[in-house]
Amino acid sequence: MTVARSEGARRVAVIGGGPAGLMAAETARAAGATVDVYERMGSVGRKFLIAGKGGLNLTHSDPFERFVSRYRGREREMRAWLEKFDADALREWARGLGVETFVGTSGRVFPSDLKAAPLLRGWVRRLRASGVNFHVHHRWLGWNDDDALRFAHEDDERVVRADAVVLALGGGSWPVLGSDGSWTRMLESRAVDLAPLQPANCGFEVARDGVEGWSEFFANKYAGQPIKPVVVAWRDGSGNDVRRQGEFVVTAHGVEGSLIYALSAELRDVIAAKGSATIHLDLAPARDVERLARDLAQPRGKRTLSEHLRRHAGIDGVKTGLLYELLAKDAMQNPENLARAIKALPLTLVRPRPLDEAISTAGGVRFAALDEQLMLKSLPGVFCAGEMIDWEAPTGGYLLTACFASGKIAGQGAAEWVARAFSAPPAL
Ligand SMILES: Cc1cc2nc3c(=O)[nH]c(=O)nc-3n(C[C@H](O)[C@H](O)[C@H](O)COP(=O)(O)OP(=O)(O)OC[C@H]3O[C@@H](n4cnc5c(N)ncnc54)[C@H](O)[C@@H]3O)c2cc1C
Repeated sequence: MTVARSEGARRVAVIGGGPAGLMAAETARAAGATVDVYERMGSVGRKFLIAGKGGLNLTHSDPFERFVSRYRGREREMRAWLEKFDADALREWARGLGVETFVGTSGRVFPSDLKAAPLLRGWVRRLRASGVNFHVHHRWLGWNDDDALRFAHEDDERVVRADAVVLALGGGSWPVLGSDGSWTRMLESRAVDLAPLQPANCGFEVARDGVEGWSEFFANKYAGQPIKPVVVAWRDGSGNDVRRQGEFVVTAHGVEGSLIYALSAELRDVIAAKGSATIHLDLAPARDVERLARDLAQPRGKRTLSEHLRRHAGIDGVKTGLLYELLAKDAMQNPENLARAIKALPLTLVRPRPLDEAISTAGGVRFAALDEQLMLKSLPGVFCAGEMIDWEAPTGGYLLTACFASGKIAGQGAAEWVARAFSAPPAL
């Protein structure tokens, strides 16, 4: 075992090199602290890089109040975070790294080249130049009996003393990228109040007639295929009827994709409370039910029903497959019944897919356990940031924005904490 002493004053250890941890490191360093970043993987920001694969959605152009409203149930806390670092501040910050951003048609904000890698590279270079020290392949194991930090490094265990710590360990999704949620054990052992980690922005498993999953035929033929355009209709927790148009994808077990992710927090909670949740699909959003019934009542002749659906209702491929999968044979034969089913096809969801497949994580360190600077009330000098805190948001750039904002607050808090500790008069 090797022990790294905290030489000199005001040493902040940031554990976790994702966007929240790196922002905490940058902020603490700018405030004068000596900063060490510890990361279990061989490089920092792996999830950030994956987030950039389909175009890095850095933040959103929503007006402030609308932006805040995206953080379901956490609007008060998020307002406080975003008042300190909002979408505009994030875009300005990216500009400072030479990365211009633009607002896409959906209001989402992307770097002009859509990529995460140049932004991350430039950022790490700037952090190093400012004096931030990086320690990769350092897996945090918790604290020892002396309250020093324990890390697994190669075949050794290193013990590190720091004057303040920022934990920015991420959620539990996509563990192959580094964040596996194992920190929950470490914090539980210190009696920190945690909400259970749960999948957010996730897919769901389906059931038909009480039997779980798609038929083998349907799954083999259609898994991976998008259903679009489609409207998902759903009665939310407050009894409001919600209709959203977009697309989703059939998977081997159920459904996933942007439209499903947007509803996933509510669906997950209803399933937890009631055992299942039913959404209704409108497979022909551009036609009303009367017109569909009229079109489908036209003589079919010798054509198959699939061909009839294609010609007269514009329904084909996976949408036709879905009708056959979910409807009884008789219901398919009557034009009025079929029209009604096309406009409101019930789909029962029975289970969210596991956390490791989700885009993000709900649950984590409860706000009641943190002060305004995101310091754990029960562990003075230990701050938290990013997805490991108990908030969630839909996709759209809201996740990264909150991670950056919380990193900023925790980094500032840690720097101020060590500054106070070293300016305090010696005890008599
Ligand atoms: C496929 C995908 C696409 C996404 N796209 C977007 C998007 O376009 N826009 C958006 O806003 N969000 C997106 N997200 C979500 C976003 O990437 C995360 O919310 C964000 O990365 C979380 O930041 P974080 O710093 O809190 O945690 P992370 O990015 O998970 O970083 C935590 C770090 O801590 C390290 N760590 C964990 N445990 C330990 C330990 N014991 N010791 C040492 N180090 C440890 C991990 O290796 C990791 O590097 C996407 C996520 C996924 C999976």
